[in-house]
Amino acid sequence: MNPVLQDGHGRRFEYLRLSLTDVCNFRCSYCLPEGYRKVAGLPANLTVAEIRRLVGAFARLGLWKVRLTGGEPSLRAELLEIAAAVAATPGIRKLAMTTNGYRLPERAADYAKAGISTLNVSVDSLDPARFAAITGHDRLPEVLDGIAAARLAGIKTIKLNSVLMRGINDDELERFIAFVQQHDLALRFIEVMRTNDNPAFFEQHHLAGAEIANRLEALGWQRLPREAGAGPAVVYAQPGQAGQIGIIAPYSKDFCASCNRLRVSGRGKLHLCLFGDHGIDLRPLLQSDGQQDNLIARITALTATKAPAHRLHQGDSGATPHLASIGG
Ligand code: SAM
Repeated sequence: MNPVLQDGHGRRFEYLRLSLTDVCNFRCSYCLPEGYRKVAGLPANLTVAEIRRLVGAFARLGLWKVRLTGGEPSLRAELLEIAAAVAATPGIRKLAMTTNGYRLPERAADYAKAGISTLNVSVDSLDPARFAAITGHDRLPEVLDGIAAARLAGIKTIKLNSVLMRGINDDELERFIAFVQQHDLALRFIEVMRTNDNPAFFEQHHLAGAEIANRLEALGWQRLPREAGAGPAVVYAQPGQAGQIGIIAPYSKDFCASCNRLRVSGRGKLHLCLFGDHGIDLRPLLQSDGQQDNLIARITALTATKAPAHRLHQGDSGATPHLASIGG
């Protein structure tokens, strides 16, 4: 029988989101509007050897999918080496990455060669000026060229991530729909989440996932049945048409019931929830191959204590200043 990593609420964890760095070069208005600021005195990011041990332990616990994220993972100098090491880990069947698309046109082929088979690219506007206003970078054409290059390079699944915000880009829903249909892409609309750094922004621009769902349904999109083992996105399609649209709505009822993911920060802290109180340092157990059994026991015991749900509805974002800090 395959091993299963589970918590005390019957949820199974087959999916690890691994941050490679908390540094990001974009200045998204809901995340790092002033840009990344280095905090002095923090330890370095996990080394390739530490990551290899970490992922090896999770894989022995039955976890089979890893997503590289950040910060911006493409800023990590050892990205290709890390990707290849994770992809080569026995038991890991899917390696994904979430990126802002930085330098994607020239790097997509290397990502594919390193074993990345699924790429989520964040695109919050299809209007170049608006994209620049949201992200602080006038790079929409480059990001879109990158998506085309990723497809040419043979990356099988490419998804657009878009945070829909009231009064900023919520008038682009139809434009996004046309784009994914033309390009046969999947799209994920992400509800903007409140973090400790963005409460005023959140109050002003939060748009409920239910509102997006209503607009999709009014346009003839139909909700697809949930697949076994699927994550928290609710997925819609239009009969006979290309493209799929998912909505990630962390404020919706029972969102956490389908949580199937764990997170490890760039410096090796296990975060049982994106909005938990703190991370738990796994690094002391990543120092030699001989520690694998202890590491596995620790991950198993910690996972069992995962809280049933986040406390976002109570205005409590845990200890999370912004999503780049843990890996959104
Ligand atoms: N730098 C990469 C990127 O831009 O995709 C990966 C890290 S970023 C933290 C991952 C995703 O989280 C992006 O799609 C981003 O738009 C989203 N995100 C960041 N802060 C968010 C927030 N407060 N609410 C909702 N989504 C957020």
